[in-house]
Amino acid sequence: MKKVFIDTLGCQMNKSDTERMLGILSHFDYEETREEEDANLLIINTCSIRQLSEDKAFSQIGTWGRWKKKGKDIKIGFCGCVAQQKANEVFKRAPYVDFVLGTHNLYKLPEIIKRVESGEKVCECAETNIANVDEKDEFGIVRVKSTNAWIPITEGCNNFCTYCIVPYTRGRERSHSPEIIIAEAKRALADGFKEITLLGQNVDSYGKDFKDRNYRLSNLLRDLNALDGNFRIRFVTSYPTDITDELIDTVVELDKVCEYFHIPMQSGNSEVLKKMNRRYDRETYAKIVAHVRDRVPDVTITSDFIAGFPSETEEQFEDTLSAIDEFELDYSNVAAYSPREKTVAARWVDKYIPDDVKEERFQRLNNKVKENCLKSNKKYLNRTMEVLIESFYEHKGEMINTGKTRNNKTVHIACDKNMVGQFVNVKIASVKTWYLKGELV
Ligand code: SF4
Repeated sequence: MKKVFIDTLGCQMNKSDTERMLGILSHFDYEETREEEDANLLIINTCSIRQLSEDKAFSQIGTWGRWKKKGKDIKIGFCGCVAQQKANEVFKRAPYVDFVLGTHNLYKLPEIIKRVESGEKVCECAETNIANVDEKDEFGIVRVKSTNAWIPITEGCNNFCTYCIVPYTRGRERSHSPEIIIAEAKRALADGFKEITLLGQNVDSYGKDFKDRNYRLSNLLRDLNALDGNFRIRFVTSYPTDITDELIDTVVELDKVCEYFHIPMQSGNSEVLKKMNRRYDRETYAKIVAHVRDRVPDVTITSDFIAGFPSETEEQFEDTLSAIDEFELDYSNVAAYSPREKTVAARWVDKYIPDDVKEERFQRLNNKVKENCLKSNKKYLNRTMEVLIESFYEHKGEMINTGKTRNNKTVHIACDKNMVGQFVNVKIASVKTWYLKGELV
């Protein structure tokens, strides 16, 4: 067997693509190694969401290039979102790269490997938008060992938010067929996974592109919920205005579907939201969140926000801080605005916010998220909650099991017994900013 090392940057979608690449490569005599020095094939799976991640990708492969220059017999692949965007340009910046493979062409990996092994340099980055997105699944998946299996249900996005590169790197939205998703879920459950997370840039629009059937996310949740076994189901990410009453009712009704919604708001100011090309204003978002909270008991709602979007004023930024408080958002991912080539907002150079202001807003946003996360955690003090144990390790001489509640709160339990993969009931004894501390009951 030859050895492949894949370095994955960015989001869960990229991690899922890496699992698929490992699945494909396992049919061509490659097994995974976590030691890059041992690998015959080195691949970087890149992320283009921020300039920083793009720069990191090029600096990372510089080391591999130096090994190659010194005569080490290795092949180097540059894959993922930056590859999709830069295509042949990658060879100019990193001439030692053997192949560049974009997100649309993952299923061509077998053919690429053959060509690269015979000494060719290959670039496969055409925008295919193939109707059959299931094609890349035919080789199976080599999953990272954990309790949770990520299963992509849609690829790409049609929303074209003005700051976002995703529609350019991952193309228009396409849904995987329910048969493929259900088969994948069955395989993951048979392999011992205890949680299925359905993945997509906008999971709520799942199935909109099916021409021959009316089958949406709530149908898929029902079919997965009917599978045998004790397991949980989650789904991320939700676009605010695509969350339907039917979906909310399905979450309430189905016992395996967890009480957790990730609903990115991005800004708390309606003017900024309009410039971002988000299809809702502050009031609409408020109504959606209130409705979800009203219908789903104990729900956790998390969000994403951007600090320093072009032309954002101090007052507009403060609307974001107040939104986190007002909507009692349990946790939010935050990022400073990073202009991305091809996107509309990147052209508004004269409206860019100076870096020091952006950084200061980013810090204040982080502090607000911390404050609210602690406030949200305090709600669970003295409550008994079901936890799925995900990891077991030693910390300062104490053995700790960590896991997640149904509503996605992290819980630490001091206990000598390794309980990874088990569902346990835990009483919350104290709370920290980022996690709850529990005792087995
Ligand atoms: S919804 Fe907007 S932010 Fe999310 S992936 Fe699509 S374009 Fe990007």
